Amino acid sequence: MQLGYRYKLKPSRQQEATMNRWLDMLRSQYNYLLRDRIESYSQVKAPRLGNYCDLKSKGEVCPLTCSVSKSHSVGYPWKSNTKNPRRTAYEAQSSSLPILKKQRPWYKGINSTVLQQALRQLDVAFSKFFKGETGYPKPKRRSRFRSFKYSTGQVKLDGNKIYLPGIGWMSFYNSRLIPEGFKLNSVTVRRKTRGWFVSIQIEDKSVPVPPVKSKDEINPQKVKGCDLGIKKLISLSSGETVANPAIQTSFKPRERRLKLRQRAASRKKKGSKNRGKSYTRVASLHERITNSRSAYHWDTANKLVDGADALVFEDLNIKAMKSRCKPKPNENGGYDRNGQSAKRGLNRSISNAAWGELVKKIEVVAAKSGIPVVKVNPKYTSQKCPKCHHTSKENRKKEKFVCTNCGHYDDADVNGAVNIKLRGLKKLGIDPSQLPPVRGKVTPTEITATNVVVPGNPHPS
Ligand SMILES: [Zn+2]
Repeated sequence: MQLGYRYKLKPSRQQEATMNRWLDMLRSQYNYLLRDRIESYSQVKAPRLGNYCDLKSKGEVCPLTCSVSKSHSVGYPWKSNTKNPRRTAYEAQSSSLPILKKQRPWYKGINSTVLQQALRQLDVAFSKFFKGETGYPKPKRRSRFRSFKYSTGQVKLDGNKIYLPGIGWMSFYNSRLIPEGFKLNSVTVRRKTRGWFVSIQIEDKSVPVPPVKSKDEINPQKVKGCDLGIKKLISLSSGETVANPAIQTSFKPRERRLKLRQRAASRKKKGSKNRGKSYTRVASLHERITNSRSAYHWDTANKLVDGADALVFEDLNIKAMKSRCKPKPNENGGYDRNGQSAKRGLNRSISNAAWGELVKKIEVVAAKSGIPVVKVNPKYTSQKCPKCHHTSKENRKKEKFVCTNCGHYDDADVNGAVNIKLRGLKKLGIDPSQLPPVRGKVTPTEITATNVVVPGNPHPS
């Protein structure tokens, strides 16, 4: 089983300076190699799957007239003594590291696996792009390049001290004990506004990952359909709800402080040191908000997974939901109101609820106990009657659901959750007729999250 833990580091001033210097050097190498890939690609102007001259003959070619690879020219393109002698772009770029260390001796100070991982990071960025998961890799600014990574077997742990090769021993806030028998895998060091953090991947191969429950092991009554919303963060098919603390806006003093800091920062002279400092203050507050939101999400995830056999969610396209309203041009050459200003508020609420992150965390928690998380098509889940399957816009009246065909009624969100659950059961291949008859009326009860700092934050930042 593989787990991820995160700790706050206590670096000395010297160590902090070293880590900052490493980040700068790694970023410059990252951007240089990105540029190399972009330029070599545009030089050959070949489609992604195209043939490259002299590939078949395996002859060496002049990089000026013909690039061997579609995406690099740094490094040496051929391996020796293998069946497939052509290096991938990553391998070729990584073969250039000895040259780099010769030309720029200060790169020798960086742990070699850290340097390697930065190259890997670029490779991952490209493969994600080709899979269509992300946009085209961009050069990174200082504020966007904030972490470096060690490979397995580099870092040592001893009590509340950690050994980072090239940087030295450093103590950290041991906020969570690592379970016995787990081995360190990769270790990532990250610079954040509120300090330095280390993320540790640990693994124990003797602890098996629980297998995902099969169709026959799932009790349909223990399947939870979950409707994500704004007023209530989650409405369950059982009638329970999870409140939405709306972390960013619920605590007024903090919201006001954020506004003041943002305004102060935007008034500082562009490019000045003061402006930089002010924006650090803004970022620090944002980080606090993110932290308390994520604490609430973990708590919610644990509560949801507890006692469930399967969880069903809508497959929401959040990006599309947040898209802007189309402009409405009129005859006078101007524009009519298109409702964007009202939409802006909704978009903020959507961002504030952070459904995508919540679902990701739920998936992590569910995987630990082998509970499947199913995503279903959200179409018409709020308009369909689960009893007679009549689908109409008129079925939904704000917060109530009343079927115009058979008279079945329910809370609108709970009704949506029931529909989501039914679709999930279908996807899992379970017969929904094993379910008890659909209830007539539901009084929503609230699951309260404990141990969570939400509204009325007693720790001002
Ligand atoms: Zn009906």
